[in-house]
Amino acid sequence: MGFVITGNCVDEKAADCVDVCPVDCIAEGPDQYFIDVEICIDCGACQAACPVDAIVWEDEMTDEDKVFYDKAEKFFRG
Ligand code: SF4
Repeated sequence: MGFVITGNCVDEKAADCVDVCPVDCIAEGPDQYFIDVEICIDCGACQAACPVDAIVWEDEMTDEDKVFYDKAEKFFRG
């Protein structure tokens, strides 16, 4: 389980999340940031820090958010 960075990050890339993540599992992609759910410890710090409410808990994803889960998996694992 983990948190997922969704559409509000695309072309926003505020990056506040990167500074607060205690396990350094947020990486910069070409158009948005991504969280590696295999490393994420579910602390929620990134969600609180995000200025555009882009970060959602995996269990609370909408169908639209799931696209971004898949996008992150592709980014980290090809
Ligand atoms: Fe990092 Fe915590 Fe956000 Fe997971 S929930 S990406 S560990 S800041």
